Amino acid sequence: STQLSRNETAWWREADAKHHLHPFTDTKGLANEGGSRIITKAEGVWLTDSEGNRILDGMAGLWCVNMGYGRKELALAAYDQMLELPYYNTFFKTATPPSVELSEKLAKITPDGLNHVFYGSSGSDANDTIVRMVRHFWNLARKPTKKIFISRNNAYHGSTMAAASLGGMAAMHGQADLPLPGFEHVMQPYWFDLGGDLTPDELGLKAAEALENRILILGAQNVAAFIGEPVQGAGGVIIPPESYWPKVQEICRKYDILLIADEVICGFGRTGNWFGCETFGISPDIMPLAKGISSGYLPLSAVMVGERVAGTLIEDGGEFYHGFTYSGHPVCCAVALANIRLMEEENIVEKVRSKTGPYLQAKLNELADHPLVGEVRGVGFLGAIELAKDKATRARFADVGTTGALCKDYATGNGLIMRAVGDTLVVSPPLIMSKPEIDELFKRARLSLDMTA
Ligand code: PLP
Repeated sequence: STQLSRNETAWWREADAKHHLHPFTDTKGLANEGGSRIITKAEGVWLTDSEGNRILDGMAGLWCVNMGYGRKELALAAYDQMLELPYYNTFFKTATPPSVELSEKLAKITPDGLNHVFYGSSGSDANDTIVRMVRHFWNLARKPTKKIFISRNNAYHGSTMAAASLGGMAAMHGQADLPLPGFEHVMQPYWFDLGGDLTPDELGLKAAEALENRILILGAQNVAAFIGEPVQGAGGVIIPPESYWPKVQEICRKYDILLIADEVICGFGRTGNWFGCETFGISPDIMPLAKGISSGYLPLSAVMVGERVAGTLIEDGGEFYHGFTYSGHPVCCAVALANIRLMEEENIVEKVRSKTGPYLQAKLNELADHPLVGEVRGVGFLGAIELAKDKATRARFADVGTTGALCKDYATGNGLIMRAVGDTLVVSPPLIMSKPEIDELFKRARLSLDMTA
């Protein structure tokens, strides 16, 4: 049984509080609240904690368990590969069957022109790889002044020094004297907060123009790349207006600036296509992937590199002095391959595009009439619920974040994991979630809103 005695739970909590420094957690606050919730088991879209509570996972873990929990196919792929060859590296002219097969598969399923892949273990290290690779590329292309990366306020690209510098989270910057030199940030196309009197499309153009203005100030000869998530995820599920990405693409072409689409959340079906780039008509030069690549079962990331950059690196670069012990790890690659095959067999992307995705969006829209809700928005299996004092003026509650946190806590009590980004509640459930489970998710979300009101 997964249900453990209270004593055992208490011991776990105490030992956890004593020894474990958790990511993105106020350790003292956690102790005051009685410690971590211990998750012991999961099946499908349901988590079970150590006290036997069943909780609907509206966040797919951290936006990653796309094919749901308890998939035997993925466990067996790992088991088989561990027995066959648990580890070998891909340095120094070696490869393994899973690393080769996954590379070929990724080249096939990603958008045209992205045919080369560099492996790592996390979205953060993928973005670190990109920073080094892009700087190396521009040196080789004899434009060595092109060094600056531009990204967006409130973007999340990971937690390493380079990835957090690419990111635009002020709280993260503040704690470690970031960003590093050479990382710039511009406004994001966040209509609800930044739109004022503009239409969403006007705001989209304004945000794209902010990029162009920054390029002109910095000098295009100094700008290496622009990076953005097709839909900003951890920043609050910011769905870009239609005007935004085509204009950004045009600006990057005009000034010869590489375009990087961070697909760590949007990739692998989240927006109703295999990749967010397809949903929003983006043609990136480089595309980092992680999370959904293995449905989170094992850590893996992949930087997809387009012909222009890969061609130069291969032709003119010689050895790229960069790599990780676990680059192309055979067990992680085997699980990713099994995961992608499972997605194909279950036709999951098509389901999200035309069946369960539209259903989820319709249910999300039903929350728009709630007195606490200023706006709902979403795409595919991503959704955001903006809490606001006044729908018409989009005025926030005082002390932004308090209402969102309260509602999220009520949701947890009601057996639903949602995430609060300030006063924006976000959902990103496993892509396998069924219609009755979607009903249950929104029933619990509404109840939590009612309790907050
Ligand atoms: N990029 C995006 C868009 C993300 O959402 C995240 C994680 O949430 C990352 C990168 C970093 O990935 P990881 O946590 O695997 O390092």
